[in-house]
Amino acid sequence: MVASRPPGVLTSKIERTPSLTPGGSSRSKEEKIFVTVRVRPLSKKELAVKYQSAWECANSQTITYKGPPQDRAAPTSYTFDKVFGPSCQTNLVYEGGAKDVAMSALTGINATIFAYGQTSSGKTYTMRGVTESAVSDIYRHMENTPEREFVIKISAMEIYNEIVKDLLQPDSGSLRLLDDPEKGPIVEKLDEQIVRDREHLRHLIGICEEQRQVGETALNDTSSRSHQIIRLTVESRLREVSGCVKSFVASLNFVDLAGSERAAQTHAIGARLKEGCHINRSLLTLTKVIRKLSSEKRSGHIPYRDSKLTRILQLSLCGNARTAIICTMSPALTHVEQSRNTLFFATCAKEVTNTAKVNMVISDKQLVKHLQTEVARLEAELRIPDRAGSSEILIMEKDEKIRQMEIKMEELKKERDNACSQLEELRKKMGDNQQGWNSFDSSQKARKCLTFSGSLQPSKMIKIRNSIRQSSTAPLTLKHEIRKLEQLQQQLEVEANRAIEVLHKQVECHKHGNQGVAETIAKLQAEIREMQSVRPENRDVEMITDEGNGSDLKDEISRLHMQDNDIAKLEAKLENVQRSIDKLVMSLPNVSQLSCPPFTTGSL
Ligand code: ADP
Ligand code: MG
Repeated sequence: MVASRPPGVLTSKIERTPSLTPGGSSRSKEEKIFVTVRVRPLSKKELAVKYQSAWECANSQTITYKGPPQDRAAPTSYTFDKVFGPSCQTNLVYEGGAKDVAMSALTGINATIFAYGQTSSGKTYTMRGVTESAVSDIYRHMENTPEREFVIKISAMEIYNEIVKDLLQPDSGSLRLLDDPEKGPIVEKLDEQIVRDREHLRHLIGICEEQRQVGETALNDTSSRSHQIIRLTVESRLREVSGCVKSFVASLNFVDLAGSERAAQTHAIGARLKEGCHINRSLLTLTKVIRKLSSEKRSGHIPYRDSKLTRILQLSLCGNARTAIICTMSPALTHVEQSRNTLFFATCAKEVTNTAKVNMVISDKQLVKHLQTEVARLEAELRIPDRAGSSEILIMEKDEKIRQMEIKMEELKKERDNACSQLEELRKKMGDNQQGWNSFDSSQKARKCLTFSGSLQPSKMIKIRNSIRQSSTAPLTLKHEIRKLEQLQQQLEVEANRAIEVLHKQVECHKHGNQGVAETIAKLQAEIREMQSVRPENRDVEMITDEGNGSDLKDEISRLHMQDNDIAKLEAKLENVQRSIDKLVMSLPNVSQLSCPPFTTGSL
């Protein structure tokens, strides 16, 4: 039923409290409830009737059953975060089992410490000592942290027969429980008093204890018949407002439960029996809640609302709080069944996980101060001209760049549209049979041919090409361009003829050379002859006057288009001749020794 952990192994814990100096991160931390067991010494009464002690603290974390053999299924040893034996003083129980959690409240983390156990097991005794120690520590911390300003408030309630009562305002009657969307369950109209100092706090806690319902039972002369919750609210903020406007607020709950009891043992009748029933019912709900929270499937319904106790403790049991439970038990063999129930509860509780976070608050006053500082900072920044100016200049520069890019884009668009319309117009004018022709294409061919001749400067070529490309749709301009091309072509032919003449002379000089050279020369002569026959008609190019006359543009273009073939043929032939000349020159013994003038293609 109850699994025990090996001694010395703290499987249920993660990192502990953040540093006690407020200002740490507000990240939430998942953490299991810190569970300890305190075994009280046998009471005078128990010793008198020679009750046997059935439990032994094997080490600081393990408690072992040492009584006569019992139910075989029952475990013999249980392990918790800490186990305190009968001789352990309450201050040590506080140090080892509650201090760490309690002090979290000083750093803005909600904390709850409660005692659970059967009647007369020592809950009230323990919680009294723990509360006192915690109060001492809180005040010590406040004294040691002068840079922060602390405000301690106290409220206290008891749940008696499922009625919530204000222990600081006993006349206020029954208080209602409300569900606050932000804070969770709250007790309506619960009085909260600001604590002046340590003595004042002690005094107020004393009032709570006086007000608490106690009654005599067979087990305890002053048995607590109600659950008591003393709540300290700890607020703190830095005295000097620097850049940090954080304040912390957290509640620290000291919960002293009424003890679970068996009517047979407490001999309760009448009012005591009724109290016992309520006590047991709320404790049973608490056990159910803890069991459900500790089980694997936590997604199911958790019956917090089944009792006022679990409703009020909801956040402390599974929410934004760090929680420590001190389970108290009597060592007497006669209470072994109740003690095992307590240990079972404790075993479940140690599996419950809480998610505590630092609660930071910003008061209106602090917020206003912070905003004022921020406004002042921004104003100061604006007053520095350099920074403001530089950003303005930067923006202006970017604007200018964008404007230039837009202009460029517009120009490109216009150019594109212009080219398209020119092309379209040309196509229209040329008719369907001229499809595929364009001025640039033609100029490219011309350029290729003329470049081969080497007689034209590249810049001149670019001018021609540009003039052709830029030629408007005016037929006259186009005709001009065509004529220019023809002139250039003729010039090319003249230059080619001159080259042929030079070649003839070279050939004459070497006609008595070797066989290979003779063959090459013969081939060359044939090619030259053929080349000369490419353009039989060597007519003069008629220049066009601005008035315009002569042939129709369409005819001009057709003629030029047909000449493209001639130009291409001529170009091919010239390339052939060039190759033959190169070959010839290479085959000659030493060109520089020849009596004839040197021949270079570049001189053509
Ligand atoms: P509970 O609140 O669990 O019903 P109490 O705290 O009232 O039990 O304790 C019952 C009695 O046992 C009291 O007289 C108390 O002084 C005594 N007692 C409890 N725990 C210890 C302890 N650790 N050492 C000495 N006496 C204790
Ligand atoms: Mg008590």
